Amino acid sequence: MNEKAFDQVVSQVAEEVIDLTQKIVQFPSVLKPPVGKEGECQAFIANWMQDVFDEVDVFELPEAPGFLKHPAHWKYSDYEGRPDVVGIIKGSGTGRSLLFNGHVDVVPEDPLPWQHAPFGGELDDGKIYGRGAADCKGGLAASLVAVKAIRKAGIKLKGDLIVQSVVGEEYAGANGTLAAVLRGYTADAGISVEPSGMELGTSTRCGRLYEIKVRRDESLFMASDQQSNPAFLIARMVMAMEEFHNKRNAKKPKNAIYHNVPQPQPASVVKIKAGQVEQGGLIGVPPEAWLHAWIYGMPETTEQELDEEVRGFYKNWIQKDETFKTNPPEIIGHTRFLEGSVVPLNHPIVKTTANCFKKVIKKEVPIGPTTITGDLGVLVNWGKTPTINLGPRGDHYHDSDEYVIVQDLVDLVSIYAHTIMDWCGVED
Ligand SMILES: [Zn+2]
Repeated sequence: MNEKAFDQVVSQVAEEVIDLTQKIVQFPSVLKPPVGKEGECQAFIANWMQDVFDEVDVFELPEAPGFLKHPAHWKYSDYEGRPDVVGIIKGSGTGRSLLFNGHVDVVPEDPLPWQHAPFGGELDDGKIYGRGAADCKGGLAASLVAVKAIRKAGIKLKGDLIVQSVVGEEYAGANGTLAAVLRGYTADAGISVEPSGMELGTSTRCGRLYEIKVRRDESLFMASDQQSNPAFLIARMVMAMEEFHNKRNAKKPKNAIYHNVPQPQPASVVKIKAGQVEQGGLIGVPPEAWLHAWIYGMPETTEQELDEEVRGFYKNWIQKDETFKTNPPEIIGHTRFLEGSVVPLNHPIVKTTANCFKKVIKKEVPIGPTTITGDLGVLVNWGKTPTINLGPRGDHYHDSDEYVIVQDLVDLVSIYAHTIMDWCGVED
């Protein structure tokens, strides 16, 4: 099939991405560890895949060999009724294999209120609104419709094509992708459909959520000394975190592709708790207080290195503070360490995808690091699948009125479809 005829087929099906995105956004597939409600959404996707793929594999995560004992497995999840779904098209065996990876779990609809219903999937002014529209159901829908275009065009691929629709990505999850990899779904290259703003991301940073906990010094009468009130203690820990953030971002990071990123290694305080904040809570000096901070590291940074950096900074910081010397804070890795990933800029999947982007959009795709942290570390490091990130523009992820740009989804169907053809190869 010549390119023009293929483009015609693509344009016939591309707009299906709108309806498909709306439909899957309407499933409230919320993950609130340890409970994930992805089951119904995954059943819908498995059913949709039946008409398009040669094989559809639906499996609960512990069915993947070695999953529960794997070092990258994060032991918090309840796995029942929330399977991974993988669609496979077998190539003739003479080409390179390609996989797409996207997750269907979403964070809760907070903060409220929204102007658009959180699970309405409303289409308004060229945007689809809803929790997960951008992160990352829109991109997942685009990859599925791209495969449909390949099928509809009657193309026989040389290399295998795999689409992983996984569960459990949010909250530094990665368990869904880990299970897919351990079930054997790896490839010569991969594309993560996380919302990258129509930029091609080659590397992702590592990261971890840390908890810093301070306690009342019980040797002191609680009201006699403000310095031992955990609310004051945690306030100083927040200021320390700001100093940590500023110091580590003042110097150029090791990895050169982050040199143009203004804040390459953020340390963001995301939650603070002191006292019984709920209605009717006790009035009194709180016995303890904590903060949560998401701390990024460079793609190559190991768990031990990140841990040493955080603990080392606080160790020095509290040396200057009399109260903390006798009553030090506790520093806890609150989630798993989410590994970063590196794909060299000159890897062939970067070139192939960039060429296909240019063919469709008629301009060069910006190539650089992604600002997200996600499952790419598992795909690259454990799945040995060099995986890049190319997904749509959108905004308000993990916020009210999340949306994705519809035109990007339509364009991505075409970019992904061309990339599949060019990467996997086509039988005459
Ligand atoms: Zn995501």
